[in-house]
Amino acid sequence: MIDLFSDTKTRPSEAMRRAIASAEVGDEQKFEDPTTNRLRERVCALLGKEDSVFLPSGTMCNEIAIAVHCSPGDEVIAAAGSHIVDFEGGGPAALSGVMVRSLQAVAGTYDAAALRAAVRPPSRYFPRSRLACVEQTANTAGGRVWPAARLREVAQQAHASGLATHMDGARLMNAVVASGVAAAEQAAGYDSVWIDFSKGLGCPVGAALAGSAAFVAQAWRLKQRWGGALRQSGILAAAALSALDHNVERLADDHANARLLATALAEIDGIAVDPQSIDTNIVFFDVGGTGFDAERLCAALHSRGVQMGAFGPTVIRAVTHLDVSRDDVLRALDVLRAVLRGD
Ligand SMILES: *Cc1c(COP(=O)(O)O)cnc(C)c1O
Repeated sequence: MIDLFSDTKTRPSEAMRRAIASAEVGDEQKFEDPTTNRLRERVCALLGKEDSVFLPSGTMCNEIAIAVHCSPGDEVIAAAGSHIVDFEGGGPAALSGVMVRSLQAVAGTYDAAALRAAVRPPSRYFPRSRLACVEQTANTAGGRVWPAARLREVAQQAHASGLATHMDGARLMNAVVASGVAAAEQAAGYDSVWIDFSKGLGCPVGAALAGSAAFVAQAWRLKQRWGGALRQSGILAAAALSALDHNVERLADDHANARLLATALAEIDGIAVDPQSIDTNIVFFDVGGTGFDAERLCAALHSRGVQMGAFGPTVIRAVTHLDVSRDDVLRALDVLRAVLRGD
């Protein structure tokens, strides 16, 4: 199976499995797990923050951050299509009692003017605007990278309006490799930021949430309350450290493969995609002109050993990652062309 469904489909490499097997461990929630402690320090340095906490998932990072920054009745501002809006089971409402206001996004981003227009004046009639969220890279926009200047202007505007700032950095390292802008610089204006180890970095489990010491102290209360406090998490942290050592620079290969895929798709009759819009490892393409709908085309691909995801009636998502080689991409394209020809 050539699995382009998601970069979550990566499996731990032999080197990562060796790192896992030899990890020194202890009780994480007592700060006695030396490997998790090393990872926390590494993440602080990487993201330029005072403290960080290891968590089971990126979703938990987002939901804890929202809960720490906000009170019930507050309003969170995020781009339409962002993960906290569409894919966290209504978590912001259910767990923190907040409303989410989605801003129309252009290439996954919004600007300072749009944020300023969305912030509500103080009034007992209105929800209190409290938190501005950005998603780096913007997943449902096709892995688009927020330019550093836009990250900065949005953070400045948010703080000037009295809002806190949060960066969903599920694929921040993809943005770092694509843009050449260091993670700490991208995250500089953000009161909280996290990275996912289980996406393109290739780990089986784990994410890390960073911010000020006061923010992380509050995050720990919720990690405990929501059942995210761990024990011998060093076996997971060892995988994350191995990923930071070995799997960051190579994200450039995934980006090149995604660009290759999009460029070839654009040449197929009935498929619409703009290869110039591929910043990182995610390719959305419209198959409306082929006579197939997305579900039927994905099913046909699947029966021939290629997995992609239907993301709308005629839209398919393909994601490149470390278990998909350039040859795999070329083979997936051959299979797609054969299905469309009716072979
Ligand atoms: C995957 C993802 C998440 C959630 O991360 P999990 O580790 O799967 O819980 C959050 N935000 C974005 C942009 C994602 O792609």
